Amino acid sequence: MDARTTATPAPCIALLSEVVGMDSLADAFRQACPGIDLRIGAELGRLEDIDAAVCWFPPPGLLARLPNLKLVQSLAAGIDHLTADPALPRELPLCRVVDDTMAAGMTAYVCWAVVQRQRGMPAYLASAAASTWQEQPFVNPRRHRVGIAGLGSLGTACAAALAAIGYPVRGWSRSPKAALPEGVTGFHGSAQLDEFLSGCDTLVCLLPLTPQTRGFLNAELFAKLPRGAHLINVGRGDHLVEADLLPALDRGQLSAATLDAFSQEPLPAGHPFWGDPRILITPHIATRTDRLVIAQQTLANLAALQRGQRPANQVDLERGY
Ligand code: NDP
Repeated sequence: MDARTTATPAPCIALLSEVVGMDSLADAFRQACPGIDLRIGAELGRLEDIDAAVCWFPPPGLLARLPNLKLVQSLAAGIDHLTADPALPRELPLCRVVDDTMAAGMTAYVCWAVVQRQRGMPAYLASAAASTWQEQPFVNPRRHRVGIAGLGSLGTACAAALAAIGYPVRGWSRSPKAALPEGVTGFHGSAQLDEFLSGCDTLVCLLPLTPQTRGFLNAELFAKLPRGAHLINVGRGDHLVEADLLPALDRGQLSAATLDAFSQEPLPAGHPFWGDPRILITPHIATRTDRLVIAQQTLANLAALQRGQRPANQVDLERGY
């Protein structure tokens, strides 16, 4: 038999983002599938060739103009950058990346963020810079309760690690959890939110951004936390009502905030959060998705669809995450 007539054609994949370059992702796709037909950025060629779109912030409306598209693949854990497009073809499978390495990166960041405030590291850094040997009061981690809003793939990994280093951990999710890591207490739904918040000396936001969770971190919520709580936002910038943060810090309702995500990124010069010693800012680096994992998961999802199977990590668009 002539192999040229039976070989499956290489898939055609578009790498789409308005805000970041896709060159290293293209290399990962070529490594995962030599001979792949890649269309990058504005150089899309014939739109009818494209089987799958791998997206960060694609140009609005573009996905709806790809007539043979079979898969929309987010290159991250979140998908809010895709559902923000009113023209998103909602009948197509939309998948996100779920990966142990990404969970490990988030776990390391969240443990660092909790420990650096709970153990008084800003004061130690200032002492060291002034060549001063100065011990800070010690608070046993057993008496510092950490709450994680969002017990998904990332939140559960963070909860397990924080419990393993001695913190009493509680988590809040939409639905009840049948099993939780050892040392983690579960809360769910709006009926249990206040009880959850009342025991969060540090609150970590690891929710997806949906219409229900937008603005979740606001003045009313801060008032339900123990006085002097530390807020860590590693979800999305729009989880936080930014205008409510500085007043909560000024009143002492919050003592500190560690923020990795912002409504506008990069955080603009002159923003009042810059330079405030109570706020530690990182530029959306809490974790990263491995490029090769994105390529492998995209190709596996496309192959599953071609076999008539459900792809992995398909988002429930009704639920919003
Ligand atoms: P998952 O979808 O696995 O988990 C989401 C969790 O949030 C679930 O426990 C879910 O509850 C809960 N949840 C959703 N809606 C509600 C609600 N209305 N009320 C209460 N709980 C709710 O997400 P991941 O863990 O993979 O990722 C979480 C988020 O982390 C991403 O969406 C993204 O925004 C952010 N992220 C940030 C990064 C960074 O570098 N800063 C990198 C990667 C992700 P249930 O279990 O009942 O479904």
